[in-house]
Amino acid sequence: MQVPSNTHVIPNGFREVSHFLSSFAQLLNYSGEHFADSGAGSSLRMTPSYCNVAIPVPLRTTFTYGIPESWHAQVQPGSRVLVPFRKKSIVGVVTDFVSKAPEETKIREIQKVLDPLPALTPKLLELGQWIASYYLAPIGEVFRAMLPPVTEIAMKRQLVLTEAGRALAEKLKQATTLTGLDGAESHFLQKLLARKGQLAFAPGAKASISPESLQRLVRCGYLEIKESVQGRKRKMQHVVAWKANESPAASLGEKEQLIRTLLQAERGPLPIPHLLKLAQVSRALIERMLRDGLLESWEEPIDPVEDPFDTGYTPPAHTLNETQESAFSAIRARFELGEFGVQLLHGVTGSGKTEVYLRSVQDILARGKTAIILVPEIALTLWIGRQCRSWFGARFEGVAVLHSALSDVERAQEWWRVRKGEARVVVGTRSAIFAPLEHLGLVIVDEEQESSYKQEETPRYHGRDVAIMRAKLENAAALLGSATPSLETYHNATSGKYELLTMATRVADRALAAVEIVDLRTDYQQTQKLNPISQTLHAGILECLEFRTQALILINRRGYSWSVLCRSCGASVQCVNCSISMTYHKSRNRLECHYCASIQPVPKVCPKCDSKYVYFFGEGSEHLEERLRKEFPGARIARLDRDTARTKQQYQETLGAFANGALDILVGTQMLAKGHDFQRVTLVGVIFADSSLSLPDFRAAERTFQLLTQVAGRAGRGELPGRVLIQTYYPEHYAVQDAVKQDYVSFYERELHFRRMMMYPPFTSLANVIVRDTKLENAIRWSRLLSEYFSPHDGKGVRVLGPASAPLARLKKEHRYQFLLKSSKKSVLTKLLTGALSFCDSNEIPQTAVLVDMDPLSLL
Ligand code: ADP
Ligand code: ZN
Ligand code: ZN
Repeated sequence: MQVPSNTHVIPNGFREVSHFLSSFAQLLNYSGEHFADSGAGSSLRMTPSYCNVAIPVPLRTTFTYGIPESWHAQVQPGSRVLVPFRKKSIVGVVTDFVSKAPEETKIREIQKVLDPLPALTPKLLELGQWIASYYLAPIGEVFRAMLPPVTEIAMKRQLVLTEAGRALAEKLKQATTLTGLDGAESHFLQKLLARKGQLAFAPGAKASISPESLQRLVRCGYLEIKESVQGRKRKMQHVVAWKANESPAASLGEKEQLIRTLLQAERGPLPIPHLLKLAQVSRALIERMLRDGLLESWEEPIDPVEDPFDTGYTPPAHTLNETQESAFSAIRARFELGEFGVQLLHGVTGSGKTEVYLRSVQDILARGKTAIILVPEIALTLWIGRQCRSWFGARFEGVAVLHSALSDVERAQEWWRVRKGEARVVVGTRSAIFAPLEHLGLVIVDEEQESSYKQEETPRYHGRDVAIMRAKLENAAALLGSATPSLETYHNATSGKYELLTMATRVADRALAAVEIVDLRTDYQQTQKLNPISQTLHAGILECLEFRTQALILINRRGYSWSVLCRSCGASVQCVNCSISMTYHKSRNRLECHYCASIQPVPKVCPKCDSKYVYFFGEGSEHLEERLRKEFPGARIARLDRDTARTKQQYQETLGAFANGALDILVGTQMLAKGHDFQRVTLVGVIFADSSLSLPDFRAAERTFQLLTQVAGRAGRGELPGRVLIQTYYPEHYAVQDAVKQDYVSFYERELHFRRMMMYPPFTSLANVIVRDTKLENAIRWSRLLSEYFSPHDGKGVRVLGPASAPLARLKKEHRYQFLLKSSKKSVLTKLLTGALSFCDSNEIPQTAVLVDMDPLSLL
């Protein structure tokens, strides 16, 4: 029997392995010889034969690989490549070429180049390098965050019997033959034969054969591993548009006129099914109009990010009012300069910032450039994305929407559409700042103060700051927008680093809502009851019900009770993994940890002392809803928090019901505070305004002020005037006082004073270093070691606080210690931390145990 030689066993296409087939890596190197550079004649080559690749592993370095002859033409800086790493294959990014052959002899080779076009543009490569050094993040992990999900590599792999294998398996069926194979191997060949010679190869699945045996069967030429790369085939649809200037309106029928309005004025070009639904016409009519030349049609890929809740409503374009006009002309002046610069658009809620954004994008597109709009949450992406489509149309400019709720395939599709230049406007959440647009002219960051722009995992970058850096690298304009800018940004805007554009009034002379403080201490004195719904709030809600308007009630905690206490011994029930008390959820009848999601049964007696006097303390949203139902029987009430809005659909249903007037009272958490534009809300109640003030965080006042101002912005958006009731135990606090006056500048000045006194940002740079491990002694030992490294530097241009137990001393089973580094010079921090990380390496402190957060937003 003829056994094919080794080199033919593995098809050239097969350059991939998985951890399941770990030992195949060696096999590949062995049989891959014919790809290797023979040395002779290589000097003639245009492309160098080696390159550095950034791989998504927690190591702060790139790795050198050889470039096989067959891939020479494709490999470029920015290309995604599949490379062997340790015992598996990983997708990485080529950062640069290496001109001299490395000294090391055992250089492995690139297995595959994923895309014909380098995924990352040179500017994005540069941006990635900056992020890696600024945030001290492993370069490979930075690039992974910048790239679309790897969907091409989820390819189908199959084990296929070769001719030789088939022949052997047939023989084995008849009788035992001497083959040199063991029982399992023979058995496996027969199994394959029974399955028509093919078997899906699923790594990780329990295989009935060992990797070694599999390797042997492949080497002997009985088996092949075949893979098929799934092409990115896109579903297409027919889109129709009104053919410009055809036929005067007079000669059109009623239906035709309706279609014209839809296509020309209201919606722009539409997919046929969409048009049929909106206009309630027959397909035959559309076809006739196409034949008559009233409509034109073409094919377009089906947009993977069609908003399923699209109600079809997009606000009409407005003529800019004077305030908007003056902001817009300052933005245009910046475009005229054609160079990098940052502008802050500080506009009160309802001042019409969106309109200014859209005009600016329109203007930059007209200059042949592209734009990114970052928004803080997914719901806003859809809303702004829809407006962009109606402004810029899917056809000529192309709008892409990128956010984390898309499936991997959808996200990859959108991403490549941008990369290929099919979209010139990108709307998205944080990571959309990496959208691979070329000729970038404008980056907008809406609600720039939002903490959702900060990524709380490696790489711990801040989307707004990366946006500014990207604009700088691309020589583009950056426009930050907010009603309550972060202290850092406003400081930059008033110190001349950024340009400040102010819009101090609401559009159409609408008044800001009237904000009143309800002092809970007085309420208690009068009622002698600890009711989270004060008398004033109660009366306000009654009034809403009477006049058939709506009320929004905001509470900061979800669940029924924040903690479970024992009256006898004072113990509270803590999470087993975290130093946090458990929250009681009544409807699910259990205790839950809001940090690690662990659960416990509801105790009948105290777990410490067996006393029966267990009581539930601190009302959450679930309790408040129950209370509202009791106090206002007959009112239509719903609750919106992470427990009731588990899916996007539930979330949308509740919001939709409220917007349609099917509800009277909506109670919920922070989720309610942002963005929504409810026209019939006349009352907003904030249950405990100061609960966020007491957090051990220097930004507590800023957060409270922002939240209260935003909430206040939810009332009185329509024709009806709004009223906001803020319940608090600390009515004197300036964050509360200034929120009541909705006076940002006053708040800013007081807070800035505090920051200056305390040496906090924007007067210093901060870095937070957490040392963590599941074993307490490790966490302590490593913190001590690090402390030895830091202490000689303390006082020399940097202040090192700690090690101290972190505010969340235990989280998800890990013990945590904390250093806080302060310096007036960022470069001093960077240098010190770079040193600290290499110190960790040489002292065998695992990289995963030390978490560095540059410009931290949360110090917990
Ligand atoms: P902001 O984001 O500043 O809170 P929005 O952009 O949401 O404000 O605008 C508030 C409302 O005002 C929207 O309904 C918008 O359609 C409307 N609007 C914007 N500009 C104008 C204008 N020039 N004239 C009238 N209405 C406007
Ligand atoms: Zn007890
Ligand atoms: Zn926990």
